Amino acid sequence: MIMAVAKYDEDAQMLESLSDVGTDSDRDGEVAHSTSKDEEVLHDHDEAERLLMKRKSDTGMEEKSKSWPHTKRSQKDKQRNGRSKRKSSTNEGASHLVYEMEEGFKDTSSNSSADSLVLTGTQWQKTSASHRPYLRFVLMFTIVSIFFALLAYGAYRASHSSQSISARQFSNGTHVFDATTILISLDGFRADFLQRELTPSLSAFVESGVSPSYMLPSFPSVTFPNHYTLVTGLYPESHGIVGNQFWDPEVEQEFFYTNTSSSMHAKWWSKAEPLWVTAEKQGVKTAIHMWPGSEAHVLGVEPTYLDKFNEHEKLPKKVDRILQLLDMEREQRPQLIAAYVPDVDRDGHAFGPNSTEIRATIAEADNMLTLLVEGLYNRNLTEIVNVIVVSDHGMATMSVNRMVQLDDIVDMSLIDHIDGWPLRGLRLKNAEQDVPIMYEQLLDAANQAGTFDVYTLNTMPERYHFANNPRIAPLWIVPKTGWLVIEKQGFDIAATLEAGEEFHPRGLHGFDHEHPLMRAIFIARGPAFPHTPNSRLPVFQNIEVYNIVCDSLGIQPHSNNGTIRLPMKPEGLHSDLGISPKPPNDDPADIHEDPVSSENNFPEPGKESSNTSLPEAPSSDQPESSAKGNWWTYLHDQLEKAKDWAEEFIDSIRNNKDPSNGTSTS
Ligand SMILES: [Zn+2]
Repeated sequence: MIMAVAKYDEDAQMLESLSDVGTDSDRDGEVAHSTSKDEEVLHDHDEAERLLMKRKSDTGMEEKSKSWPHTKRSQKDKQRNGRSKRKSSTNEGASHLVYEMEEGFKDTSSNSSADSLVLTGTQWQKTSASHRPYLRFVLMFTIVSIFFALLAYGAYRASHSSQSISARQFSNGTHVFDATTILISLDGFRADFLQRELTPSLSAFVESGVSPSYMLPSFPSVTFPNHYTLVTGLYPESHGIVGNQFWDPEVEQEFFYTNTSSSMHAKWWSKAEPLWVTAEKQGVKTAIHMWPGSEAHVLGVEPTYLDKFNEHEKLPKKVDRILQLLDMEREQRPQLIAAYVPDVDRDGHAFGPNSTEIRATIAEADNMLTLLVEGLYNRNLTEIVNVIVVSDHGMATMSVNRMVQLDDIVDMSLIDHIDGWPLRGLRLKNAEQDVPIMYEQLLDAANQAGTFDVYTLNTMPERYHFANNPRIAPLWIVPKTGWLVIEKQGFDIAATLEAGEEFHPRGLHGFDHEHPLMRAIFIARGPAFPHTPNSRLPVFQNIEVYNIVCDSLGIQPHSNNGTIRLPMKPEGLHSDLGISPKPPNDDPADIHEDPVSSENNFPEPGKESSNTSLPEAPSSDQPESSAKGNWWTYLHDQLEKAKDWAEEFIDSIRNNKDPSNGTSTS
């Protein structure tokens, strides 16, 4: 346990020392060069998980996730191990809750969509279950990559046809399109989820588009502040949504994000101008699908199309909705479509970011993008519509062994309101008198424990940009990543430890926004991003996204904290750093054994394909030559296979963890 603490502290100190020096651009450089250290942090995190599990049970679990994320073992081996351990653990009782959560046992307390899945039998069990998903991934990744490579080549060629992107009109052969951008937010999609061999579509977006290694969220790394930063270009202290939950002393009311009757009042949001207001004011129609804050009537300007939040909506329905909007006649059609996807965050909270369940959800979110690309492709829009995929923050695994009881370190009776989660903003009844006293008490406790930091508005790190707003409480406890400082009323640590229970949610975010576990993603492709495929941007913070989207649409951004404008300036290719989303292909013999491979006698595309010269891609000006007609069929078939892979993979996880399916399948 103590070893795990030390690891966390070391990591956080590294990050702070990085950020305390030099200018922003210096810092970016250092962050970019700290890749190997970052990998250690992620690895250490996993290591910490393992140590905790060993404490719970010392039987045969040493192997668990030893090599993630830099596995030399094949996926097949991991699955084999996971399966045999799962079998043994069924006899070991409830004391292995932590282990079970990590390995994918059903969490009966959750109401995740995983539970609603219809279980369709044992296709997974009949086949050589131990290695098929890995092989399928390799195959699907290759197929989808080829598909995107063809598209990328088309984009690259198209980029030579000059003209300012935003002013351009495009034709898909039957309809005229103005500059159009789809912005998709995958809530809680941590940057390293891209390296888990689960995301053929997103990996192909990286291969064919432009992206930084990761995007920094803003502080605090929680959903509402960051979604509003994404669409305003402002730090939370500037746009005013300073937390998912906060007290506003001026109106003497609490903002609580899930209490929509109050939180969707314009007064909370109208200190900033979101994308849809900027666009609508300039005559550009918008469609906003469930984006946090979009129902708040901000500044009295509504999106042309607004879909209210519906947590039960299935992901394919979101794709249907986006395509339906694109199918509108030009006069009605929105040029900005912003869509919100809550699933990865929801299951990250419910099961933890290292759980088996989250693997299915990541694959499901990726499959949604396969469906979207297929829809764009069928409409001949892949080089007409910009697609930008972002996330708002990452996720850290929580444990009852990494907690501090707030009641043990301060006099709770002095506190009037506690803002924020998992960071804690303290508003005291007698602030003038008690804030300095409590600050000293907390500083002492923080120095002793080493598991959280304490700040007043005067000592708050400048890089947080989190002081300059009356909605920000005068005294803050910021736990180290993976830690929690919590009042007894919310969670009694000692009682829980004694009962041998775990803490829920299993995953949380909201920590230091520069910690590797909080990192988000940004990936863009389309005519506004005419870069060499696989271009790597310098790391940037999500305050830049607003300008980027405005530029892609040719509208004038409202003043904001962002500084990046299109065209973006890559610093190289991802492949230059040896960073590739490709799965490790260290067991090629298995691929030849796989019967699915032999089905894949790819039809000859327009000309001979090889690794170095790409075949000519379909382009919007010549959609119907006979050779390309073959491609359409071919590529459509490949997308169908990618979907089949995802569905089978998701089923395999959810079937295996369902108790009604009996014991393991190895
Ligand atoms: Zn979120």
